[in-house]
Amino acid sequence: MPNVPELFGSMVFNQKVMKERLPKETFKALKKTLDDGEPLNLDVANQVAHAMKEWAIEKGATHFTHWFQPLTGITAEKHDSFITPQSDGTVIMSFSGKELVKGEPDASSFPSGGRRATFEARGYTVWDPTAYPFVKEHTLCIPTAFCSYTGEALDKKTPLLRSMEALNKQALRILKLFGNTSTTHVSTTVGPEQEYFIVDEKLYNQRKDLRMTGRTLFGAKPSKGQEMDDQYFAALKPRIVAYMEDLNNTLWKYGILSKTEHNEVAPAQHEMAPIFSTTNLSADQNQLTMEVMKKVARRHGLVCLLHEKPFAGLNGSGKHNNWSMSTNEGENLLEPGDTPRKNAQFLLFLTAVIKAVDENQDLLRISVASAGNDHRLGANEAPPAIISMYLGDELEAVLKSIKDGTPYDDKSQQKMSIGADVLPPIPKDSTDRNRTSPFAFTGNKFEFRSCGSSLSISGPNTTLDAIVAYTLKQFADELESAKDFDSALNALIKREITEHWKIVFNGNGYDSSWIAEAEKRGLLNLRTLPEAMERYLDAKNIKLFTEMGVYTDVEMKSHFEIKLEKYTQILNIEVETMLEMINKDIMPAAFKYMNAVSKTVIDLKSVVPSAKCASESALLTKLSALVDELAVKAEDLSKKHISAKQAGDCMAVAKEYVSSVIPAMAETRAVADEIEPLIGEDYKPFPSYEDLLFRI
Ligand code: ADP
Ligand code: MG
Repeated sequence: MPNVPELFGSMVFNQKVMKERLPKETFKALKKTLDDGEPLNLDVANQVAHAMKEWAIEKGATHFTHWFQPLTGITAEKHDSFITPQSDGTVIMSFSGKELVKGEPDASSFPSGGRRATFEARGYTVWDPTAYPFVKEHTLCIPTAFCSYTGEALDKKTPLLRSMEALNKQALRILKLFGNTSTTHVSTTVGPEQEYFIVDEKLYNQRKDLRMTGRTLFGAKPSKGQEMDDQYFAALKPRIVAYMEDLNNTLWKYGILSKTEHNEVAPAQHEMAPIFSTTNLSADQNQLTMEVMKKVARRHGLVCLLHEKPFAGLNGSGKHNNWSMSTNEGENLLEPGDTPRKNAQFLLFLTAVIKAVDENQDLLRISVASAGNDHRLGANEAPPAIISMYLGDELEAVLKSIKDGTPYDDKSQQKMSIGADVLPPIPKDSTDRNRTSPFAFTGNKFEFRSCGSSLSISGPNTTLDAIVAYTLKQFADELESAKDFDSALNALIKREITEHWKIVFNGNGYDSSWIAEAEKRGLLNLRTLPEAMERYLDAKNIKLFTEMGVYTDVEMKSHFEIKLEKYTQILNIEVETMLEMINKDIMPAAFKYMNAVSKTVIDLKSVVPSAKCASESALLTKLSALVDELAVKAEDLSKKHISAKQAGDCMAVAKEYVSSVIPAMAETRAVADEIEPLIGEDYKPFPSYEDLLFRI
């Protein structure tokens, strides 16, 4: 058994290490940067760099890298070694403050949405001192933001930091209105629960679709799926136990607060939940978590699938983004208060989130849109593509009471009066917690459940922070100029709850009647990425992000292109892989098997001329018809694919994929999936769903 406290954070250059290794004055100066965002002077940077290098070398590092999050959604690193040649032919290990603070990776191959021509591709990375450096394998990784020379963000961290700052500024204004002058900083906090699938590496290697696209493009339904519900929280299989132990130890070394592990609903599906931290750190750590999950799996002869929908007919994987706001004094602003004043404050922040979500359903949907997640949103067990909010019975009753002026408690006939009453207890773990809601209040935080499992959480949280900051700003503007704060506050909360009541839905989000009901309420149902992206550049959205200083309109236009391009690239790879598997795997397997059966018939008839061979004939007739049909479907798919690629600009191409290519993919797959169970075990083209899901 490892000594967990000793192991935890052992590869992280955290504040404890900084304090131990830096001269007192240097540590003090660095702490000012960490706490108050004061710029670091070069002298301090040099001392920090030296201490960091010495520490990293002790941990086995020979290289350093500016670790950043380009718009690909994964992390990037380019390693430089510490060696510096000396005149006598030897080397010393050196690392300067300048190298720590700023880097210049050649950025020409990262997506920028047409913003930079290759000749001006230089971008630079800047250390984000609020996220700790760490040693991974033989490299000191320094978390950095990635910008262009004109100051535009080329990454996901910069906008996230900007959005957190926007929220900080507006939340402080609100707190001041409630008489709080001691709080100096408000941060958002996030705990992302991460779902994933594990399959055997040998089987994985035999499936081109998994290797090339991360999901199965073919596969007949196995005789057993998740209908028995015998996987959720079930005892873990030995190989999974070994994997999870290794995973936890590795994550702990990197200072990641891996807390909960369990089997999920689908066979071979699992979850890891960390303890929450500041959003910026949480986003870094989630990126690292995904990387570690994949690497550790390989050590065990396993492969970790982070795709949102690796298997048709089974639950997909998501990432539940638990989100709240917290002061530097440790007060959770979404924790219902126990005094009338704290209550009123809580209700105002809650109202801000409700208004922000209702007014920006499109932005939230867009923030989680990806080719993979399109398969998941609205499908089995996933939250629907419609954004709505669940508040729980108690809170809904309270808000309804404020809205309608009616009693919230039937028994005591009590009405809710803001600023005068204490809230009734809001149980954190109401048993009826709604698992189908995309945006659920869970006692002292919101859980945004629409995020896909492979998604960087930076994007959704940038949006969440920005829309709430924008709303808080409106509230602060109104309340700061009010003559009588209490009556203005009452009027504001009542007005906003009434106006945005339509977003509150406590019912079953998986029920098909909800789609009609949501439409009646005027809620958006943006089923696919292109449909959602069509709204991204609406004037309302550009105004919001630019006013909050989160994205420039140039950045937004580039995100628009990048997102659509990535979407069509993924589909392009999927179609090509499908066609290749049909030609190289499925057809040849069917031919071989048909040939074997035909031979059996000929051989048998030569011995027993009267043999009818009816079942063989029936099978051959069926198979040969299906193979012909598959060829026709594949040809049709290929034609539609070629024509989609020529549809015009990136939006036109993406839409063509939705309307013509994706349906053709489904039709093609359906025929192949009919062929699969007819082929003998020894002839099958690749491991089946049953193999992948149950052979661990
Ligand atoms: P579950 O939703 O599985 O029942 P919990 O409610 O205990 O689990 O927590 C889920 C996640 O929410 C954990 O990652 C936890 O750290 C995180 N969380 C708890 N409090 C907060 C908060 N104030 N801000 C952000 N995340 C939080
Ligand atoms: Mg949860």
